[in-house]
Amino acid sequence: MRKNVIAGNWKMNKVLSEAEQFVEETKTRIPSEEKAESIVCAPFPFLPVLVEKAKGSDLKVAAQNMHYEDNGAFTGEVSPVMLKDLGVTHVVLGHSERREYFAETDETVNKKAHAAFNHNLTPIICVGETLEQRENNETMNHVEAQVKQALSGLTEEQVKASIIAYEPIWAIGTGKTATSEQANEVCTHIRNVVKQFSSEEAGEAIRLQYGGSVKPANVDELLSQSDIDGALVGGASLEADSFVQLAEAGA
Ligand code: 13P
Repeated sequence: MRKNVIAGNWKMNKVLSEAEQFVEETKTRIPSEEKAESIVCAPFPFLPVLVEKAKGSDLKVAAQNMHYEDNGAFTGEVSPVMLKDLGVTHVVLGHSERREYFAETDETVNKKAHAAFNHNLTPIICVGETLEQRENNETMNHVEAQVKQALSGLTEEQVKASIIAYEPIWAIGTGKTATSEQANEVCTHIRNVVKQFSSEEAGEAIRLQYGGSVKPANVDELLSQSDIDGALVGGASLEADSFVQLAEAGA
């Protein structure tokens, strides 16, 4: 019932020519949009070129962050108005790297989620616990608080349209994947939280990705879980062939 959404988060990698080549090599090989959604989350300077290159294909282009204001004196920032104008469709919000290195908070993530919907962008909202939190059995409470704050004040329709990426911080870029059971357990909890917080229907509709050392070898098992509807992939999304394999797994 829920369509899988596979997103490659390139983080701060590639130069423009490499990014263009990637889109050229993947856009005709990914599954059709009816079967699964395939998204590349690219650095800001590449976005207009990649949107243009991906036109007419099923590949969508996302930003990795944005500001919540439409415009103004915010040197170095990029607004939702700018992203929408370029033809960007999705935006990653609250990635753990932004929370850790760039002072992103649950409050700013919430403001950005509202700004995204105000401009017809779909937010991919990242949540997840540290290793210490997992070891102290704080995972469920921590993730629940992040989800509730991120979605605060959104309408039921907006909650339904949101994507939440569960990315345990200890599994990002470490080669340590959460087991599919561990990942699903948290995603089931997130879905239940959304059901209580918004509505049964919203909890059923919202799509939940897993992220953290996802690769072609483990993606099938993760996607076979009841509450995992996609993946947010870092390292393994950088190579065109690997990204295509991941996207195919979503179909
Ligand atoms: P890796 O797939 O490299 O572990 O990164 C996950 C991630 O942070 C995606 O946003």
